[in-house]
Amino acid sequence: MRKYMLELTIGIVPVVLIFFMYIGENVIPLVLFAALGFIVFYAARGRGKLAATSMQRRRPATSETPFSFDQIGGQERAKQELIEALDFLVRREQMAKLGIRPLKGILLAGPPGTGKTLLAKAAAHYTDSIYLAASGSEFVEMYVGVGAGRIRDLFKEARVKAQKSGKSSAVIFIDEIEVIGGKRDGGQQREYDQTLNQLLTEMDGIHADEAPRILLIAATNRKEMLDSALLRPGRFDRHIEVDLPDRKGRLHILNIHAGNKPIAEEVDLQRIAAESYGFSGAQLESVMNEAAIYALREENEAIGEKHLSMAIDKVMMGEKTDREATREERERVALHELGHAIMAELVRPGSVSQVALSPRGKALGYVRHNPQQDQYLYTKPFLNGQIMIALGGAAAEEMFYGGRSTGSRGDFEQAMSIVKTLVESGLTELGIIDASMMTREGWAAITKSILDDLMAQTKMMLEARRPVFLSSLQTLLQEETLSGEQFRQLIRSHSAA
Ligand code: ATP
Repeated sequence: MRKYMLELTIGIVPVVLIFFMYIGENVIPLVLFAALGFIVFYAARGRGKLAATSMQRRRPATSETPFSFDQIGGQERAKQELIEALDFLVRREQMAKLGIRPLKGILLAGPPGTGKTLLAKAAAHYTDSIYLAASGSEFVEMYVGVGAGRIRDLFKEARVKAQKSGKSSAVIFIDEIEVIGGKRDGGQQREYDQTLNQLLTEMDGIHADEAPRILLIAATNRKEMLDSALLRPGRFDRHIEVDLPDRKGRLHILNIHAGNKPIAEEVDLQRIAAESYGFSGAQLESVMNEAAIYALREENEAIGEKHLSMAIDKVMMGEKTDREATREERERVALHELGHAIMAELVRPGSVSQVALSPRGKALGYVRHNPQQDQYLYTKPFLNGQIMIALGGAAAEEMFYGGRSTGSRGDFEQAMSIVKTLVESGLTELGIIDASMMTREGWAAITKSILDDLMAQTKMMLEARRPVFLSSLQTLLQEETLSGEQFRQLIRSHSAA
């Protein structure tokens, strides 16, 4: 029908105009109005096409940037699941013989920077397909129908490109799918609805015997937001979780990104992998890159341990700032950080990897903790310990100044979020409860009771180590940073004394 729209318009418009002239109407305002509408419509389509074309230019074809699964660190389970799914495309004849319907969509879900885009690129390489990428936000326009038009163009382009380069399949990767594939609420978002409908229509149009075959891979970090129409069988029916890497995965990723960099003999990437707990692949890539920049600044030929350590701090906390703190402020911050660090060594001996008094990001000082191993399940004593480490800073300020400062705000937020976990996991005196039924007063009461109790214990434990504070304070003020080992040495020498 769309095909004939232009012909119909060309035929009907002159007839209508002649009719109006015949009955003596002034047709000039009508012609002007129609011309204006025509210009607005084509400008919108043009913008759509323009953006789509610029998108095309940015898109790397597989042949230009071959990217294999070996270049992706960690993510072994995700890679395995993806390869199994891709075999549908690779072993096409076998699938057809068994009457298995084609796989149309694979959804990669996980936190930002975990390698979802890399997986899609590797999928294109593995299946010897053309690779086209777009982001959900590129389909968002204020003109109704433009986003849908871009989806159509994207699929058309994938087919044309695959045919031109003699490939039998194409992989289309849509990042941030939640932007266009969010739950439809029947509200005002007509433009979004049309775009999503077009995507569903295109997916329904993928057939087993089609040549070239299209495979859609989408990525999201908000899977719960997606419309169920997208997730039903026959659409994105393969869901692959792409999680943050564990210690082994982190080491693998660090090794990949160290591949093209000179690394000093002393460097133990195992240790860096342990210290970068909770980092995504993108953050680990950034650690290696920043470390190389630090090495360059110091005119060193190779990246050393200290460069990597500084790079971890930078990625975790932000760049060093040159905020000038007064002497009193520096002393207060030092005691606050020592409070966290001493508490950490009491609760989990050997866990402090650095105490620093240099301002970074928003913090004036910080303690870097070194999780001994990745952990996925937490017990009540462990979580209580975490709260006590968070409260250690404020407790130390109270011990030495008789009151706290605004510097504990972030610590309290952290402590309260752990209290929330405790309540929701049924680990408090309230027992197993539906936390969503709790009143604000209920939350306030349980939070106060847990935090008051743990604060009292923290203060008592820190008070018994008052001399450790005094002996470490001067060193920290002078040196600005204490390594975990230096700090433990100070504690040991005090205990021996
Ligand atoms: P987003 O959800 O923000 O789009 P993403 O999950 O698609 O992120 P990528 O774009 O694939 O993340 O990764 C960003 C960069 O991080 C990559 O170019 C790469 O340098 C690095 N990276 C991320 N994950 C890995 C990994 N598993 N192995 C090696 N490098 C990785």
